[in-house]
This record gives sequence, structure tokens and C-alpha cells, in this order.
Amino acid sequence: MQQYRNLLQANDPDIFNALSGEESRQRAGIELIPSENYTYPEVLCTLGSVFTNKYSEGYPGRRYYGGQEFTDTIEDIARERAKQVFRCEHANVQPLSGSPMNQAVYLGLLEPGDTILAMDLSHGGHLTHGAPVSFMGKLFNFIRYKTDPVDGSIDFDELRKTALEHKPKMILCGYTSYPRDLDYAAFKKIADEVGAITMTDASHYGGLIAADVIRNPFDFGFDVVTSTSHKSLRGPRGGMILCKKEFAPRIDKAVFPGLQGGPHMNSIAGIAVTLKKALEPEFKEYGKQVLVNAKTLADELLKSGASLVTGGTDNHMMVLDTEKSYGINGKVAEELLDEVAITTNKQIIPDDPNPPLKPSGIRIGTPAATSRGMKEADMVKLAGWITTILQNPEDKNLAVTTRSEIESFCSRFPVPGI
Ligand SMILES: *Cc1c(COP(=O)(O)O)cnc(C)c1O
Repeated sequence: MQQYRNLLQANDPDIFNALSGEESRQRAGIELIPSENYTYPEVLCTLGSVFTNKYSEGYPGRRYYGGQEFTDTIEDIARERAKQVFRCEHANVQPLSGSPMNQAVYLGLLEPGDTILAMDLSHGGHLTHGAPVSFMGKLFNFIRYKTDPVDGSIDFDELRKTALEHKPKMILCGYTSYPRDLDYAAFKKIADEVGAITMTDASHYGGLIAADVIRNPFDFGFDVVTSTSHKSLRGPRGGMILCKKEFAPRIDKAVFPGLQGGPHMNSIAGIAVTLKKALEPEFKEYGKQVLVNAKTLADELLKSGASLVTGGTDNHMMVLDTEKSYGINGKVAEELLDEVAITTNKQIIPDDPNPPLKPSGIRIGTPAATSRGMKEADMVKLAGWITTILQNPEDKNLAVTTRSEIESFCSRFPVPGI
């Protein structure tokens, strides 16, 4: 790697300097965006490898180009490991990222105009779950269910009524900003009653399913589970579609040639490496620590008087209502924390009265901090910093001293791969 770096430095200093800057930024601060993580050095190695040179349209054993002996090997290994990690019958590891992954499922299993019952966006659903600005929202008819913002529960009697009324072809659960686990058995029961396909978008928590620290939808008979590979799973950017065998031909055809061209084989090599790690006992420990850290951080924030959507967390993330807690919106809170090298993201809360660019809260998650080795005592410190900064938005001196405290704290935790 060093050799490549020297070349880059000599031949394209602008890009090299930006890379060094990003490395320093990732090292200096605490990364709390719940969808981000630090991948393994081995994965960085595969991403920067000659697998990026190769076209491999098709699937192992039936490609449209020659020279596939090694690409077939890595994709076969990645698919087998994915099936083992997620306990499922079929895996497609070619989606270029989370969004095309979900698109491929809809396009493969549904017809344009079909109805999908999915979680309301402000309650935790994702853009690809039919936001009006997404093409999926234009192609399919999305109907919404909501959650109870006080305790996070889903009213399944209401959901059943909606399902009976609208007869969805698919019931979709999974989230991007919901701090609780899901009752897959309840979703499945309703889906069976109306003859709907069951799908979970586990993009955020694929790693937690892999570590077996939250429920696995396949244990409840779900048909399809999608997950990104770069969030809690700690892999390269990419997506995976996991499903029952009966859906495999339609899913594979939808990914290629339906939606995509050549897969990114350097990412697929990285996904294979990531899934081997996910099968090791250390990964289970990692998953447990992600949850313990989130719970500790949430408890400390609650003790300080802060308000969390649904009152806490059962997974790797929480949504802090900054309007209610400190009288500031999520954009201001995100910027205040940025100034002290704590990275979060502004977040709409259920039925948010504020606009999306100035929403009422921020989203905080522990996967990246846990990858650096942070534990409970560190979460207590972190909660203290977040609280003092957000309680004293005008205090510039406090921001300066806190930033240097945080930077020296962070120097104790090496960043994997840097
Ligand atoms: C992150 C995410 C996606 C999209 O992933 P990209 O890789 O950003 O395209 C899809 N669904 C959910 C629930 C997500 O959290």
C-alpha cells in the first residue's frame, strides 16, 4: 500500500492531500453517524486491488467475458459465506449499493403499480421505501404504517386493517432511523393473511443480525432480506440480497441484466473478507459491544434530562430530540457537535413539524466508535461532552477546550486501516 501512496503523492498531490486530510479527520474525532463504520485493513486491500480491472457480467460459471477463474472463486465464496452468516438459501452479492439493491428486489418480484406497505419515512423508513422524490415512489404504490413515538411500538391491529384494505403485494419492514428491534412474526402473520411477500431492509443492522445480537428475519419465515455491506457489517460499500430459493432466479435476473451491468469485483472480494470476519467469535463480541455502548450512551443522555425518540434504544442507534432537550434544531446541534469533532447527522423525528433541513433531532449510533475499541466508560464521557455542548450553544471557549479534550481522547483509539 505504501508504494501506491508514494506514487499518488508524487503524481497527484491534490488528491493525495485530500486523502491525508480525510485520514486525519477520521482519526481526530468521534464518528457517531449510525450508518458509518471503519472497514478492515484487509478490505481496503481488496478495494485497491486489480479486481477493479475486471469485467464479470453474469454469475459464476455463466459469465459474458473470459478470464473469470479468480472472480468466480471470490463471488462463489462471498455467496456461500453470506448464506452461512444470515442462515438463508440464496445470496446475491452484486448490488452496487443499498439503493440499487432494494430497487432490484421491487423490480424482480413486483410489477410497476403494485402496492407495498412500508414504514413511514419520518418514523424510520428509508428514501428507497417509496419517498416521493425517489423513482421507486413513482413506480410503485407505497402505503404507510407508523410507530408510536413514545414507546416505539407498532400497532399491528391497525397495520392489519391497512393491509386488508389495500392488499399489498409486499410488506416491507426495516429502517434507517428507528431505535428498536422488529416483531417479524407479527409482520409475517399479516403478510400470510393477505398473501404478501415479506421483505426486511436490514441495511443498517445487517451486522447485528450477523452477530446474532438482534432478531434474524429468516427465523420468522421472511422471504427477502437486504443489507448494505458497509454499515454495521463493516465491509466495503455494497449491497446484498438474501432470499428463499424460490425467489433466486427472479432476484438474480433483476440485478443483472435487469438493473446493473458489470459487478464491482473489488467490492465483492471485500464482501467475502468481511463475511469471514462476521463468522468469527470476535464479531459476536463486537455486535454485543455495539448494543451495550448504545444503551450506555442512551441511558446517560436520559439521566441528563435529554429526550430520546421512543425513550431509548434496543439497537445501535438513538434519535435525540434536540428541540425538546435543548431548544435547538438538529441542524444547529449537528454543527455544534461538528465543531468539537463529534460527527452526527440531523434527523427528522416522527411527524416532525420542522422541515427536513432543520429537523427536530439528530441521529447517533455506536458501530464506528465500537470498531475503534470504545467501551461503556467512554460512552459516559461522550454523553457528558454532548450534553455540555448542546446545553451551552453560545459558549465558544467551551467548544475550543472540549475539542482539544476530544482529540486527545481519540488519540488513544487507533482507526482500523489508517
Ligand atoms: C443506507 C440505507 C439504504 C441505502 O444504501 P446506499 O448504499 O446509501 O444506497 C437503503 N435502505 C436503508 C434502510 C438504509 O439505511
